[in-house]
Amino acid sequence: MSSVQIRDVRKSFGGFEVLHGVTIPIEDGAFVVLVGPSGCGKSTLLRMLAGLENITSGTISIGDRVVNNVQPKERDIAMVFQNYALYPHMTVADNMGFSLKLRGANPDEIKKGVARAAEILALTPLLDRYPRQLSGGQRQRVAMGRAIVRDPQVFLFDEPLSNLDAKLRVAMRTEIKELHQRLKTTTVYVTHDQIEAMTMADKIVVMHDGIVEQIGSPLELYDRPDNQFVASFIGSPA
Ligand code: ADP
Ligand code: MG
Repeated sequence: MSSVQIRDVRKSFGGFEVLHGVTIPIEDGAFVVLVGPSGCGKSTLLRMLAGLENITSGTISIGDRVVNNVQPKERDIAMVFQNYALYPHMTVADNMGFSLKLRGANPDEIKKGVARAAEILALTPLLDRYPRQLSGGQRQRVAMGRAIVRDPQVFLFDEPLSNLDAKLRVAMRTEIKELHQRLKTTTVYVTHDQIEAMTMADKIVVMHDGIVEQIGSPLELYDRPDNQFVASFIGSPA
């Protein structure tokens, strides 16, 4: 686990600024949800946390370390995307073990890491299957398994449930929360769905057009929205 500090971060693409100085403190072990309409800069911010996008100005720290110039592989972070592509020609076990292998783990370490992640996610009976032999929910759990296998300091989720049907989406919210309660890994979870944010977050960060409108607990945002945008976004129907 680690705290994450985002301080006055700006991002421009070809001279066009899409994040206008964003400051978000994230406590060690928190489950923080970034929520806001499509195009407000959520994925860009998450990609900067992961090191997949450089920072135009400002700083991002993980624990005590400023990571602005640290390569993705050197950051102790794991990310789950919306389009979690599993490797179709690899078994569940190999899909989950691949990131350990890339980082030079030996076969014994890989086996132990995969067994632990599989146990946490109830995937143990499925380790020898191939992705095509799994249901959508099982595939999503394998994608999470790939993230937790390394026991990272921080999890990043970018709209991980938006391709699932409504029933599975609700079930997976609970699973992800239970996973967090068990592992207590600092988590930054991105969604455009305010119901998802309200039901999952310890702390919600409402974003809009490249700025942070408000940061607070679900109850605080509901009871005391800082402005009209927050009030109508949080209060609007799904
Ligand atoms: P969100 O995830 O909240 O929907 P994004 O972070 O994907 O928003 O995008 C924020 C803004 O940055 C959008 O206006 C988008 O068009 C722009 N953007 C994102 N990535 C790039 C890129 N690689 N090049 C140019 N513009 C980009
Ligand atoms: Mg996005």
